Amino acid sequence: MTSPQPTAAIAALPESRPFIAPEELAKLGGHTALLRLGANESAFGPPPAALAAMQAAVARTSWYGDPESMDLREALAARHGCTLEGLAVGAGIDDLMGLVVRAYLDLGDVSVATLGTYPTYAYHVLGYGARLETVPYHSDGTVQLEALARRAHETGARAAYLANPDNPSGTFVERSAVAAFRAALPDDCLLVLDEAYADFVATAELPAMETDPRVVRLRTFSKAYGLAGARVGYALGAREIIATFGKIRLQFGVNRTGQIGALAALHDERFIRDVVAEVARGRDEYHALAASLGLRTLPSRTNFVCIDIGSRERAEAMVAELLRRAVFVRKPGAPPLDGFIRVTVGTAEERARFGAAFTAALHALSPGATFGNRTVPGATLGNRTEGDVAVS
Ligand SMILES: *Cc1c(COP(=O)(O)O)cnc(C)c1O
Repeated sequence: MTSPQPTAAIAALPESRPFIAPEELAKLGGHTALLRLGANESAFGPPPAALAAMQAAVARTSWYGDPESMDLREALAARHGCTLEGLAVGAGIDDLMGLVVRAYLDLGDVSVATLGTYPTYAYHVLGYGARLETVPYHSDGTVQLEALARRAHETGARAAYLANPDNPSGTFVERSAVAAFRAALPDDCLLVLDEAYADFVATAELPAMETDPRVVRLRTFSKAYGLAGARVGYALGAREIIATFGKIRLQFGVNRTGQIGALAALHDERFIRDVVAEVARGRDEYHALAASLGLRTLPSRTNFVCIDIGSRERAEAMVAELLRRAVFVRKPGAPPLDGFIRVTVGTAEERARFGAAFTAALHALSPGATFGNRTVPGATLGNRTEGDVAVS
């Protein structure tokens, strides 16, 4: 008897996942709740105006959302000074990255990216049967832009992925360096600029909004706007790119309550400014905490900070020690950052709880000991980029 088979590209994929959810890690650790500092979710929640708008909208969940997201797109176009034709809304950046890959990478085509950067991009590249060529971070957590551009030429890459500010390092590339990177890439290579953390950076520091037909920019309501569970993101780009997405995007993929919440959140500028200021204070606290314990951190322009634990083994053990204390963090998966843990900025109270748990966990890690049995499966980010299997 013959049975239905998936396509060759999909059959060849490992059964790995880009993330193991905190819900699953809580179960593994035997906890009912975790201090969630591992997924860069906002500790400050959605703006009150967005909560109210969503609460009022829930009763109409029987309706589909507007497939054009017209109200939200009009507000976003006004905010960014672009046209409606230059803007597509999707169910988060993760959804939009899938469209980018599906639309611009054929089977076997190459995209370049930094080894160990945000893993969902690699997940889509492999999932659509394309190939990923990687260049590691510099040891200071910055992206090797020149090497990436060179690799793009060597491999005939059709797309290049840059998260800016970057996840998991937190580092930032100045706008002039982004422009130089674009200029250094092959002309027919699409620059996928993932700006999930753009709201934490001053607009003047970001590339200008003129549309280069060789660049697509991805933004989200999941981070500063505190709406990760609502699943709303958007793409900014030339009319041709947005029209291409329009041929294949899921028409009703963005839920109606999410559209309404995002629109209300966009208008609560004061709340977002306060969140960004509090996140900056929280980053300073994490840097100071690490310094007081003799540990190095990476500079960050995001809502998280990477702390150097010394080695891959020690960082994995630290993730496990924190989970034992019901604290959820993640760690970069690939060298040279695999000896770091990545900690999301919490509220002042959560930061204090983290400080206590982290200090205790550090004391529990004796130098030179082996920690193999304490490794948390799937706490690592970016395994896909290495071609590993994330879950054992
Ligand atoms: C959080 C994050 C995303 C996911 O964004 P969604 O809009 O929630 O899908 C994408 N890219 C980076 C770099 C992120 O950190």
